[in-house]
Amino acid sequence: MFKADVITLFPELFPGPLGASIIGRAMDKGLWSLNATQLRDYAYDKHKKVDDTPAGGGPGLVLKPDILARAIDDISPEDDPRPRLLMSPRGKPLTQNYVRELAQGPGAVIICGRFEGIDQRVIDKRNLIEVSVGDYVLCGGEVAAMTLLEATTRLLPGVMGSNESELDESFENGLLEYPQYTRPAEFEGENIPDVVTNGDHKKLAEWRQAQSEKLTQTRRPDLWAAYRDEE
Ligand code: SAH
Repeated sequence: MFKADVITLFPELFPGPLGASIIGRAMDKGLWSLNATQLRDYAYDKHKKVDDTPAGGGPGLVLKPDILARAIDDISPEDDPRPRLLMSPRGKPLTQNYVRELAQGPGAVIICGRFEGIDQRVIDKRNLIEVSVGDYVLCGGEVAAMTLLEATTRLLPGVMGSNESELDESFENGLLEYPQYTRPAEFEGENIPDVVTNGDHKKLAEWRQAQSEKLTQTRRPDLWAAYRDEE
């Protein structure tokens, strides 16, 4: 079973969207588990202080390394095989490849930052792997952690009905997905393209491949270049 632990100042935000739909049902079925821990429970003083002003000056507050280390050591002792991830805009980009790698593993311990971030020493001492969900700054790591967990848990065995819907998707073959259609056959004067409905499976596969390539080329030149290099 894929076991997720999240360390956060806002455990009440979980499971949130992770409790809904297919991955929520998968959690109910015991295909994965989620435990959110309040970082503040590991504070030493009576004010439950978890942060302090940045050494050397600057705005905001930094999460204290000693308290975070205590939480990590309690939740994920040294022999825990799970990767310890720190959600961070400086991290390696979260990609479908990385998500697939995580889904094949035993789970993840995820640390959510807040304020200005986290003392560098705990990142180094606990070998935290920094992971980013994109080139923009959120207020905290919680939504980023949910994104990572939602993308990962939907790939766990038994979670999605048909394996095909997963393999056909954007990024799985290095390309963006082709356009999808459903009933009604005509919408505001626009018909579903003939090739989609006329039953020629070979033609349809070719059309979808061509559409995927065209979309990727125009919208994501970076993915297109990588796809061409692979071929
Ligand atoms: N001062 C930091 C940003 C802190 S934002 C910097 O400039 O790098 C506060 C917290 O939100 C971070 O510690 C991180 O846990 C989370 N966060 C913000 N943006 C994120 C992103 N793009 N990906 C993952 N986590 C992010």
